[in-house]
Amino acid sequence: MSRSTTAWRNWGRTELAVPAQRFVPSHVGEVAELVRGAASDGRRIRPVGAGHSFSSIAVADDLHVDLRRLSGLLSADVDHGQVTLGAGTRLAEIPALISYYGLAMPNLGDIDAQTIAGAISTGTHGTGSRFGGLSTQVAAVQLTTGTGELITVSAADHADWLDAVRVGLGALGVITAVTLQCVPEFVLAADERPEPLERVLEEFESRCDGADHFEFYWFPHTRTALTKTNTRLPFGAQRAALPPLRRFVDDTLVSNELYRILCALQSRAPATTPTINRLAEKITGNRSFTDRSDHVFTTKRTVRFREMEYALPRGQVPTVLRRLQKLIKERDWRISFPIEVRSAAADPLWLSTAHDRLTGYIAVHRYWRDRDTEPYFDATEEIMLAHDGRPHWGKMHTLTADQLRTRYPRFDDFRAVRDQLDPQRVFANPYLDRVLGR
Ligand SMILES: Cc1cc2nc3c(=O)[nH]c(=O)nc-3n(C[C@H](O)[C@H](O)[C@H](O)COP(=O)(O)OP(=O)(O)OC[C@H]3O[C@@H](n4cnc5c(N)ncnc54)[C@H](O)[C@@H]3O)c2cc1C
Repeated sequence: MSRSTTAWRNWGRTELAVPAQRFVPSHVGEVAELVRGAASDGRRIRPVGAGHSFSSIAVADDLHVDLRRLSGLLSADVDHGQVTLGAGTRLAEIPALISYYGLAMPNLGDIDAQTIAGAISTGTHGTGSRFGGLSTQVAAVQLTTGTGELITVSAADHADWLDAVRVGLGALGVITAVTLQCVPEFVLAADERPEPLERVLEEFESRCDGADHFEFYWFPHTRTALTKTNTRLPFGAQRAALPPLRRFVDDTLVSNELYRILCALQSRAPATTPTINRLAEKITGNRSFTDRSDHVFTTKRTVRFREMEYALPRGQVPTVLRRLQKLIKERDWRISFPIEVRSAAADPLWLSTAHDRLTGYIAVHRYWRDRDTEPYFDATEEIMLAHDGRPHWGKMHTLTADQLRTRYPRFDDFRAVRDQLDPQRVFANPYLDRVLGR
């Protein structure tokens, strides 16, 4: 097992940590050894994935464990459509590993740079009112508990814990392997177009119900929504992928390189924001293509930003978005980054943001170099909370255990499982102290 001490930063540059030691175990036995050692020495240990959370959830202030060597495909059960992956496997690696078996993940978020363990631990989701987040795809989790015991949690083993560990916040153990329930490979027909924002808000619920995957972006200071509607088709359906040059121009040059320059300009000269947003709205999001599901679900994001996302009862989305529109206007803020709106099916996972309710998501972003972003995030959070919002665990929010308890009916059941799996709080960090209590 290699070890080192170096500073760690998350992708959004909101967090910086200097752990006492960083470990990169190369087999499951080393993880158990590490956890037992930490427990007997009264140390704290934090499993860390790709560092793509904006909140301080992954901050390791004592021992940092990086699971990158426990990655790749461990086994495939083709009859049941299940695959078991090492915890450190990046989402981007999974399609190539499982397409050999004719399988795909049923839904994905915007990007694929996260590790599978990190993504499920914060309740990472994509969009689609008939589809749950990535954690709902999890059939089994292998983890080392706070006492150093290696267990598997599935419908057959420790079934009572399954709905806790599938969104576990890194509080219940170090995950070493994840079994996913996959679906046969499929393609997506993508339709991306600008539409009047007000009409999209009026039709929001029926658009979500009428499509497999519907989402939209709204650039503040404009009246247009960039909608994305993806339709699932059998794998053999005829494809019309974007030509490589068009994909490079749209997804690399315009969405990242040009956008980076525009964001930097707006950050230095905020008065240019409305004009630039109107330009951004015109040069992006007007295309149709059909391609492999993972190619359509995910894109590359190289312009750094900071993000807050709240899950709302889906019917509240139009009202909340209109309130945000009014807020930005009244405060005369210049907001360069778009607001993203998605949806998900209700699920039974105890700390899933879509627990027990059909959900709409609204995410607000700021360019990472923008100054004085707090008033925007604070005022947004106030509106979200007034509409029964639940914060994404991996994105910026200020909620504490007492506030979260009222938003999650199974909150204390989760804490009881934590008492069993991590009685000494080996996996605690300041974020978990805040959101779960000690
Ligand atoms: C550009 C960008 C786009 C994003 N898009 C989306 C999106 O579309 N939808 C969405 O919902 N979210 C999105 N996110 C948020 C992101 O998916 C989550 O924050 C996710 O948790 C990050 O995964 P990670 O591997 O980086 O984990 P980290 O951020 O490193 O860790 C997250 C949590 O997982 C725990 N963890 C990591 N590995 C293990 C392990 N082996 N065992 C136990 N616990 C572990 C950590 O302790 C921590 O609690 C995005 C983030 C960025 C930066």
